[in-house]
Amino acid sequence: MYFQHILGNNSIKTVLIKEVSSNKIPHAQLFNGAKGAGQLPMALAFVMYVFCRDKKKDDSCGKCANCIKMLKLIHPDLHFFFPTKGAKYSSKDYFLELQKMVKQNPYLDRDDWYKNQKISSNGGIKVRDAKIINKIINLKAYEGTYKVFIIWLPETMNLITSNKLLKHIEEPSQNTLFIFISENSETLLPTIISRLQTKTFKQIETVEILTTLKQKYPELESGFVEKIINENQNNYNNILKKIDGQINEEKIHNDFINWIRLCFLAKNKKSIPDLILWCENVSKTDKNLQLEFLKVSTTIIRHAFLLNYSPSINLYPKIQHPNFNMKNFANYLTKNNIYKICTLLDNSYDYLSRHANSKILFLDLSFALGKLLNK
Ligand SMILES: [Zn+2]
Repeated sequence: MYFQHILGNNSIKTVLIKEVSSNKIPHAQLFNGAKGAGQLPMALAFVMYVFCRDKKKDDSCGKCANCIKMLKLIHPDLHFFFPTKGAKYSSKDYFLELQKMVKQNPYLDRDDWYKNQKISSNGGIKVRDAKIINKIINLKAYEGTYKVFIIWLPETMNLITSNKLLKHIEEPSQNTLFIFISENSETLLPTIISRLQTKTFKQIETVEILTTLKQKYPELESGFVEKIINENQNNYNNILKKIDGQINEEKIHNDFINWIRLCFLAKNKKSIPDLILWCENVSKTDKNLQLEFLKVSTTIIRHAFLLNYSPSINLYPKIQHPNFNMKNFANYLTKNNIYKICTLLDNSYDYLSRHANSKILFLDLSFALGKLLNK
């Protein structure tokens, strides 16, 4: 991460840059604040700046070997420790998974990680991690400067782990930096907090989020973006997820409209190559997206059918597309075919989740659906 890409908390950014330029970097720091305030991206920008061999006045060069390794999150002197499930494994065993998520969205929070890893109450930074830190701390830094330990979500450490770490914070080793990144430092041991230099992060300001999102998503209206910012109380992570979700939903709707049209036309031989191509394309997308597509399609079809019985029903999802009218589509769904169509979609979902061949599955489904809709 570059400092210039970090939203908000400019005063913290200034202090961090000053710490590096004056060579007075605190040995152990706590970046604390609410979810979505950007503690982790700030820490990554800071570490990159510490490692950079050609520092600019207020940012990393982005070109030196250290910067490149930091941008890929593969710097050998950067060590991540974070909550994992089960006592058998350590953070090192799950780093590739976290690395992938952080590269996609460095604003991710504890809920995202726990959901991804299916971690329940057994999650936490383990004693095993503290033992690994013990070993690494005695080694030399690969690149000759600092060894940096990012302790992400230290509030998940138990007492034994906390006490093992405490030793290193109390008696700092040379050229070692600890950055504790917390969403709720109140549950940290007071003995640990008292030895950390705390930086408190505020939620990112509306105007700053608005400017960034306008550049990122120029097609979105300001009023809509502002509404999402307010609804999510400036939690940048949740805002991004909400917007990406809306964009994905719109894409699925467009795919659905295109697909249904091809299914209708499948009785006409000339249209079959287009349908085959559509199935080929959808089978190349991520399996989760394919499953999501089937789920959304089923919901749309069920709602369209209901429209025949209660035209005033509050429809969800709402589809806005010049070539699609839900009421017209509903005319093709009757009590004679709806049960078969829903069973067909539900079965396809089951087969797909059990590793069926997507291309064949979508092709079979499209022909069967076309026949039922044309009945
Ligand atoms: Zn650099």
